[in-house]
Amino acid sequence: MIKKFIRRVLRFGKKSGPQIIPKSRHGISREHLSSGSLRVCDTLQNAGHEAYVVGGAVRDLILGVVPKDFDVATSAPPETVHKLFRRSRLIGRRFQIAHVMFGSETVEVSTFRSGAAEDKDEHGRVLRDNAYGTREQDAARRDFTANALYYDASNETVVDFHGGMADLSAKLVHIIGEPGERYREDPVRMLRAVRFAAKLGFKIEPATRAPIRSLGKLIENVPAARIFDEMQKLLLSGHAKNTLHRLREEGLHHGVLPLLDVILEQPLGMRFVNLSLEDTDRRALEGKPVSPAFLFAALFWHEVLATWRAECAKGAHPVPALHKCMDEVLDEQTKKLAIPRRFTTIMKEIWLLQPRFEQRSGKRPFATLSQERFRAGYDFMHLRAKSGEVPMELAEWWERFQDVPHDQQVEMLQEPKAGERSTTRRRRKPRAETPLAP
Ligand code: ATP
Ligand code: MG
Repeated sequence: MIKKFIRRVLRFGKKSGPQIIPKSRHGISREHLSSGSLRVCDTLQNAGHEAYVVGGAVRDLILGVVPKDFDVATSAPPETVHKLFRRSRLIGRRFQIAHVMFGSETVEVSTFRSGAAEDKDEHGRVLRDNAYGTREQDAARRDFTANALYYDASNETVVDFHGGMADLSAKLVHIIGEPGERYREDPVRMLRAVRFAAKLGFKIEPATRAPIRSLGKLIENVPAARIFDEMQKLLLSGHAKNTLHRLREEGLHHGVLPLLDVILEQPLGMRFVNLSLEDTDRRALEGKPVSPAFLFAALFWHEVLATWRAECAKGAHPVPALHKCMDEVLDEQTKKLAIPRRFTTIMKEIWLLQPRFEQRSGKRPFATLSQERFRAGYDFMHLRAKSGEVPMELAEWWERFQDVPHDQQVEMLQEPKAGERSTTRRRRKPRAETPLAP
């Protein structure tokens, strides 16, 4: 409380009010905004409210990066926003915001908040901060200086309360306020610092970086569903590989991906994860859809594989053993990161297809080909081949098998291996030596 007061006085003494940055310095004109965000700002301002594009979009536009989406901050309360836009709805998890829809674009409109915590847990984590506030208060509760720039479309200026423009020029991720206090309020900000540094190619400003190593463990107190939201942004950003390795350098992965250490310590696991991340990053940067389930399946595959091999070596039947290992790995991992069931279902389907690719005789390959998740399973196996885990010849066989006409497919079929039946029906008794074994 006292610290906050002193800071406020110091800040007040240093400069009064925000810097108003003209277009000649920031370079953003109205035309750079999405049509939806421009409509939202104009409509709100015409109705007598303050409204600005804020956050990542302003930061990215100044850096010459195409923004992912446009967020608007306004003095109007959510119900007022809702009334002004026919196609809008109020949503709220931690606080209420309005989503305004224009065709395929959704603009997130949030009302200025004061940042005054109404409720904190014993570690200082803010549980509720719903109070509305002024534009200045709204800027102070944001995470990094470069994320607290307000673009006013009516006069094409940027309003900068915390020196965000200077930090953008210096390529620094710089937290607003006292770093330790801000991380305690919301430990996810540590993940965000690393995410922005990796995404933008910035350094983390020394005082912003310093407390991360000691406070990293606070991430464990954050609900697993919230960690999942942030990790999803991180993994689909187009910079997943760089970010994950930086998270590990900062020691932040313990509370997020506890299995990452084990996986990255095995050379094959490391190669496979890196290849999957590179592939995902390439797709994301090309604007192609990327599947979080595929990536999570890749991240945990070597853990599944290691436990599965151990089970099979003990004589367990491969298929039930695989089910058991998948469930164990997912149970362990989802304590930290709540991967939604719609994703874990797909992850399991991808994993379960892997042993089936080994079977290239009889009717089984046709049954494999008709599986709903075949394409993802095949892409996954191709990455395994690239990493050296299975022969490349196997991936090439399946690549051809998918494409050729039926008669050639039949010609491609291999002789059943000793003891293997060419039927898809389960008539076999469990054997120790089976083509399903990893
Ligand atoms: P991206 O381009 O990755 O979406 P972003 O900066 O827009 O980056 P969002 O997660 O969309 O990130 O958040 C929008 C804005 O909300 C941020 O720019 C920041 O001002 C504010 N914000 C988001 N999360 C936090 C947080 N945990 N603490 C404080 N402010 C936050
Ligand atoms: Mg954003």
